[in-house]
Amino acid sequence: MSIKKVTSHPTQNENLIFERSQTGRIGYRLPKLDVPETQDVIPAEFTRDDDLDGVPEVSEVDVVRHFTRMSTWNYSIDLGMYPLGSCTMKYNSRLNEKVARLGGFANLHPLTPEEESQGALELIYRLQEDLAEITGLPGVSLQPAAGAQGEMTGVMLIRAFLDKRDGEASHERRVMLIPDSAHGTNPASAALAGFTVKSIRSTAEGLTDMDHLRELCNEGGVAGVMFTNPNTVGIFEKNIKEICEIIHSAGGLVYMDGANMNALVGVARPGDMGVDVIHLNLHKTFSTPHGGGGPGCGPCCCTAELREFLPTPRVEKTGDRYHLNYDLPDSIGRVKAYFGNFGMMVRALAYIYTHGAEGLQEATETSVLNARYLAEKLKDVYHKPFDSDCMHEAIFSHKNQTVTGVHTLDIAKRLIDYGFHPPTIYFPLVVDGAMLIEPTESVGRADLDAFVEAMKDIDAEAKENPQLLHDAPQSTRIGRLDEAAAARKPVLRWKKDIDTMSKSA
Ligand SMILES: *Cc1c(COP(=O)(O)O)cnc(C)c1O
Repeated sequence: MSIKKVTSHPTQNENLIFERSQTGRIGYRLPKLDVPETQDVIPAEFTRDDDLDGVPEVSEVDVVRHFTRMSTWNYSIDLGMYPLGSCTMKYNSRLNEKVARLGGFANLHPLTPEEESQGALELIYRLQEDLAEITGLPGVSLQPAAGAQGEMTGVMLIRAFLDKRDGEASHERRVMLIPDSAHGTNPASAALAGFTVKSIRSTAEGLTDMDHLRELCNEGGVAGVMFTNPNTVGIFEKNIKEICEIIHSAGGLVYMDGANMNALVGVARPGDMGVDVIHLNLHKTFSTPHGGGGPGCGPCCCTAELREFLPTPRVEKTGDRYHLNYDLPDSIGRVKAYFGNFGMMVRALAYIYTHGAEGLQEATETSVLNARYLAEKLKDVYHKPFDSDCMHEAIFSHKNQTVTGVHTLDIAKRLIDYGFHPPTIYFPLVVDGAMLIEPTESVGRADLDAFVEAMKDIDAEAKENPQLLHDAPQSTRIGRLDEAAAARKPVLRWKKDIDTMSKSA
């Protein structure tokens, strides 16, 4: 008996929803009209007569099954380890989701008057206070909707501060120093806020080159520095205090990209290191889910000196009442509608409260321990470009595997066949063929060992059968994609009678 194409297999052969369409099928019923039919009210020239050609006609069960099947093609944090370096893909507990869905929070309209939204304002206020304590920086705005927007807010604060301090002369101070290992958003944020970027070299140890930093400061015009700590190769900038001193004595301010705070929370505070402004990623360090461009929250935290420039409105507390302060004449203004992405704040506060101070510290220590465990177990097989002990993420390169023509991309794709989401690859740019692996605290020893085994097996395959790796992944519905073509010539629209993507794929 030959097996026909099985359309209900959970992972294979799922056509487009359009191709499931059968004339006359419906998935819902509208209630009876209790108003006049539109023809009588709306002039004919404004009504459409194309019968919504092309909209799929499917039943409810067709829709549910179609999207449920597709959802199983995706790798997710609920399925397994997601070691994307720099992204901190940690497990988000169900409790965080539960409290974010409480009716009083989830259904509250952003225009609800202060007196009727005291609970939500209190939540914002408490989170501000906790983040101030965690970072050692007392001024906090939760408005920015992403890390990159938090960065932009932060450099705008620096600019507003310099303009107020130096008046006209501040126009001479428009250089932002950024290490060559920085996340791409750093130079972009600096440029958006009107700064020119100069790049600081990294040393062979993977740290900021202090001599080059001094040299650049001597050239003058320095508004500040934007650096990441631990930096993007996962190493703690041990000269951080000195970096801050050099920048401050050159008249500039220090911005820290806090996307890597998962290595510091509960252990060390940027404010104590001399940092003036930082952004956090609640959708990394504080567990709220991210990926696919969903809502984020990138709080901006600053020193008392910079507080007056923070976005409006600010949530403040007088006695036991919470209120919104719009009267901040030196503020850079709003950066986001209303208060930012409130649901993210609820999740982050739930994360903080369920951990407590000790729990936060333990999470940090575990995330560093996990990364160091991987670094230690893999260093004899994969080239480790820096000797220093890593913090919460471990970096390797493809140097040992290129001997047989195998590159980082092949290794990453092969990991999919072993059931793992690949790590971050080819970032940061300072390491050729980088693999940045961040296990986070959410994985146990058994999963770490399974990952190590997979990486070792892949190394063995690279020696014995490189073609196997070039052809990976083989266990997925679609194999190696031409990602450049997919990005440059995306097929985003289904057209009737045209050979569809699912058939050509
Ligand atoms: C993720 C990340 C950012 C940007 O955060 P978004 O929320 O994606 O805008 C900035 N810097 C570093 C180091 C990051 O890892």
